[in-house]
Amino acid sequence: MQTIDQFNFAGKKAFVRVDFNVPVDENFAITDDTRIRAAMPTLKKILADGGSLILASHMGRPKKNPDPKYSLKVIVDHVSKLLGVPVRFAPDCMGDQTAALAADLKPGEALLLENLRFYAEEEGKPRGEFATDEEKAAAKKVVKESQKEFTAKLAAYADCYVNDAFGTAHRAHASTALIAKHFDENNKMFGYLMEKEVKAVEKVMTDVARPFTAIMGGSKVSSKIEIIENLLTKVDSLIITGGMTYTFTKAQGGKIGNSICEDDKLELSLELLAKAKEKGVNIVLAVDAKAADSFSNEAQTQFVKVNEIPDGWEGLDIGPETEKIFADVIKNSKTILWNGPTGVFEFDNFTSGSRSVGHAIVEATKNGAFSLVGGGDSVACVNKFGIADQVSYVSTGGGALLEAIEGRILPGIEAIRGY
Ligand code: AMP
Repeated sequence: MQTIDQFNFAGKKAFVRVDFNVPVDENFAITDDTRIRAAMPTLKKILADGGSLILASHMGRPKKNPDPKYSLKVIVDHVSKLLGVPVRFAPDCMGDQTAALAADLKPGEALLLENLRFYAEEEGKPRGEFATDEEKAAAKKVVKESQKEFTAKLAAYADCYVNDAFGTAHRAHASTALIAKHFDENNKMFGYLMEKEVKAVEKVMTDVARPFTAIMGGSKVSSKIEIIENLLTKVDSLIITGGMTYTFTKAQGGKIGNSICEDDKLELSLELLAKAKEKGVNIVLAVDAKAADSFSNEAQTQFVKVNEIPDGWEGLDIGPETEKIFADVIKNSKTILWNGPTGVFEFDNFTSGSRSVGHAIVEATKNGAFSLVGGGDSVACVNKFGIADQVSYVSTGGGALLEAIEGRILPGIEAIRGY
């Protein structure tokens, strides 16, 4: 497989799928440019070689073409500044004018295309409401057909294809996967960011130093169930925390007061515990909770046993005994995966558990463990606690990371590797 380091972009036009889906405020000012900065090593290498850039991304979830609320125009100046060259903007990712702009690109120049998702063909999903399933299926067929031409037109702008958008690697969209078929194996590759992401996931999934501990937090069992099941075949210890705690606690007969709980997942959580036992996986659950008398940062609080939460109270974070138990498991691990907070970390009074998990991971990393942190909320946690640079790898992909860890083959990765 071609790697970006081996490739010489001199005189070549590179179609680079980036993830410039950055958050903006009501005045369209970028509030967090992490994703743009993350693509810079790839983009700078291409320009330094004497190549030119055709930058393509989605932003938000537009429902029409054009949808000014989601125009990528608002990031042009910032991308130019970070890249150190003026970036031209194509106000439509299709059309003769855009094809001409791409054709005119000289070595060292860059062109940013308007939001790919202005076209339904990017995702290959029909828009609008449909009265029947048949109508929807027929509309889908039409989009899938026109998606071929859309993809071919994007591919025709460039000599080579670089995918550096790990955040969308789990989507088989025109620009993230289908386009790769238009380039032979010597002219398509991962960007540096994508390469790092793929390596980090592979390290956790295949080249594992033991003990391997995964910390799964967040609110719902239902959204994490497949990952948890998959992890049972891989990890030595599995810390199940966050809002999921209370579904497991109730299933085992505990009193959880008003804590978040999925009553239709009680059976399932018992089955998971049984499966873990069968496989010899050490499941670690909270023993105490920081309970609040309302869902608010200003609530009254008390530490209680996790299975004795009084009526009218709800567990919003783990308690000090649990912090210690979790930290001991983490510090004795050689591979660590963290996805999801231990509590409602958005409220300052309920960050302690997530903070202590973060610090235990930092300590384990200092002692030689490989630590991978991923999924929106855990990334927000390590940023909030200022420890992002003290773990081995912070993934930019939420859904993509979780799907890779579930053991699925991501279309964006498969399209480049060819398997
Ligand atoms: P997820 O999107 O499933 O990863 O869940 C992340 C969210 O779970 C965060 O917004 C947390 O505030 C929330 N969360 C974590 N622990 C709790 C809890 N004990 N009660 C309610 N929400 C929680």
